[in-house]
Amino acid sequence: MLSNFGASNLLFSRFERFELSILDAIIFSQLADITIRDITLLNIWGLFTLVKFFSFLFVLLVFPPLTTALVADTYPVECEDAAHFEERREKLAENHIISPRRGAQPIEDTRVIDAMRSVYRHAFVHPNYRAQAYLDRPLPIGHGQTISQPFIVALMSELVRPGPDDRALEIGTGSGYQAAVLAEIVREVYTIEIIEPLAHQGKTALRACGYDDVKVKHDDGYYGWEEHAPFDIIVVTAAASHIAPPLIEQLADGGRMVIPVGPPYETQSLMLVEKDEEGRLTQRSVMPVRFVPFVRDEN
Ligand code: SAH
Repeated sequence: MLSNFGASNLLFSRFERFELSILDAIIFSQLADITIRDITLLNIWGLFTLVKFFSFLFVLLVFPPLTTALVADTYPVECEDAAHFEERREKLAENHIISPRRGAQPIEDTRVIDAMRSVYRHAFVHPNYRAQAYLDRPLPIGHGQTISQPFIVALMSELVRPGPDDRALEIGTGSGYQAAVLAEIVREVYTIEIIEPLAHQGKTALRACGYDDVKVKHDDGYYGWEEHAPFDIIVVTAAASHIAPPLIEQLADGGRMVIPVGPPYETQSLMLVEKDEEGRLTQRSVMPVRFVPFVRDEN
């Protein structure tokens, strides 16, 4: 009990500037008619708060530099398949895309399923993470960013109903993986990334895997890519507080946009926004998701 008390005492003196020694506490407990049990409860609460505080600090301070250290800024890419990768890709498609577990909606668009089977996800992750490339998980790509979870990539691709004549804009190139999946299906893909080394790395991976026509730009995607607008498809892969008006303007009549909307580092809502042939907008919330934040270029 006494050592626990030390922890909550530290908490008080540090965060509430409330100096409480053991002796003070005993006197205080007698004066205020607080039992030893109350003090123990207070200690448990104090410890719990400390653990929460330090976990938060750890995630905030240690995790992004750690992933950045693990994933070097840019690195060469060899886009070659191997039998074990092919097998894992097939399993990923079967178990997580076509018939996902945990009650998630199965992906039915055969173009999307074929694209998920075709793109070498292992070429879009750092060599340190290649062994995990075909798990249905997001993975760090450096700079505090992640390559999206394959199921979410498939779902977003299906929601925008891609066709062979479509022109697509992606905001948030990251690894280049989502752009590659779209490029398997549509006529033209444009993608914008705000973090320069990621734009460079994403482009390197896309080129190495033969997606030579995908146009990659380092810029703030808030403004879209006006000279190539309008787009039949817009896919935003970072969570924004609102839908950027230029993106709505650059969506073609009959176009589809998918975008996570909501607060950063919390649960957001994956929204499907559609513009009909008369330019009228409708939107619906598809499911709760968690994406990295949509950031703005401060220059
Ligand atoms: N589509 C990517 C997912 C990358 S995570 C993939 O398949 O790997 C989202 C990306 O959005 C991050 O790389 C982040 O840097 C980028 N991003 C965030 N805000 C942005 C903005 N305003 N403009 C362009 N890219 C942005």
